[in-house]
Amino acid sequence: MLIVKKFGGSSVADKERIFNVASRCVEEYQKGNDVIVVLSAMGDTTDELLEKANDINPNASKRELDMLLTTGEQVSVSLMAMAINSLGIPAISLNAFQVEMHSTSRYGNARFKRIDSERIQHEIDSRKIVIVTGFQGVNKYEDYTTLGRGGSDTSAVAIAAALHADACEIYTDVEGIYTADPRIVPNAKKMKEISYDEMLELASLGAKVLHNRCVEMAKKYGVQLIVRSSLNRAEGTIVREGSRMEKLLVSGVATDKNTARISVIGIEDKPGVAFRIFNVLAKNHINVDIILQSVGRDGTKDISFTVAEDDIQDALKVLEENKDTLTIREIKHREDVAKLSIVGAGMMSNPGVAAQMFEALFTAGVNINMISTSEIRITVLIDERDMDRAMVAVHDGFGLGD
Ligand code: ASP
Ligand code: MG
Repeated sequence: MLIVKKFGGSSVADKERIFNVASRCVEEYQKGNDVIVVLSAMGDTTDELLEKANDINPNASKRELDMLLTTGEQVSVSLMAMAINSLGIPAISLNAFQVEMHSTSRYGNARFKRIDSERIQHEIDSRKIVIVTGFQGVNKYEDYTTLGRGGSDTSAVAIAAALHADACEIYTDVEGIYTADPRIVPNAKKMKEISYDEMLELASLGAKVLHNRCVEMAKKYGVQLIVRSSLNRAEGTIVREGSRMEKLLVSGVATDKNTARISVIGIEDKPGVAFRIFNVLAKNHINVDIILQSVGRDGTKDISFTVAEDDIQDALKVLEENKDTLTIREIKHREDVAKLSIVGAGMMSNPGVAAQMFEALFTAGVNINMISTSEIRITVLIDERDMDRAMVAVHDGFGLGD
């Protein structure tokens, strides 16, 4: 079997953990399997490198930032090869150049275009453990690029897809995917398996275990993902195409406080106004999430929508600058809001799920500010101070706990 194992920064944070990972990889290798290891930078290296850059030049070019950030992964892969070698097993580290991991040219947020399998295959054929840098690619200018924060998961899946690996194991500091955040909901349960679509909804909703694009890619190429702990042997969660006979009504609850609400008040109630508002936001790369429009009255209406909290200043600025042309009378915003979502493939074919969720929130005395739904997800916007309580209430309301 060919197995790709990806370890995050906390799993390789120091010498002891590096050797812990090394011995797990050796164990797999000694079973007769072929092993590719994909690593993140050690501990908080990426953050530290960003701080260093910011200290030298807060306006550093994205190209130079990527040149800097990609060193983090290079440190961890070379140290890992040395650790595995010291255990008497042949290993080699490779970076994105050596593998030829071609990406789009966009620094800081590149996407893979093509991954050459030849070099890795060659090293595997000579029975080496191959250790590859996560998070990085090479663009058409032969510059390093990075994939965006948390991108090493995507590197692992891309390599698993390119080499037709039998499994892609994502090792992390939690034991798998839970029905809710176990730090807040003590009786949250680890899921045995979850479908790609459910995981996609959860990943984009702030269940930060897996990078969103990694799940998208795993789905596209049919790569089976296993999320498990690097610190113990507990069985993890399998992410694959839904195979359960009966889909679960609700499989998990997720929250996200990195969200803010903007309301534009008193805009003209005529065609094209919403288009112009969201167009100006889109042109400024501001992603809009839940949108709610009031019923028009006296020729005007209001629109409320949410953006990531990181984007709020930019969003307010472009709206303010275009206030007159967008016919906005007043702009209001709130940052102390949070999203709470339930996800479940079974809600597609079962009525009443929303009512059940709203009942749990009502019983807990939580007020709902906005609502949005997809086929397999219901999201409400609530006050941030209600978030933890609401998560417990909804989790209990659907009987998800142990
Ligand atoms: N080292 C990168 C980061 O901190 C990539 C990763 O860990 O996945 O975002
Ligand atoms: Mg991660």
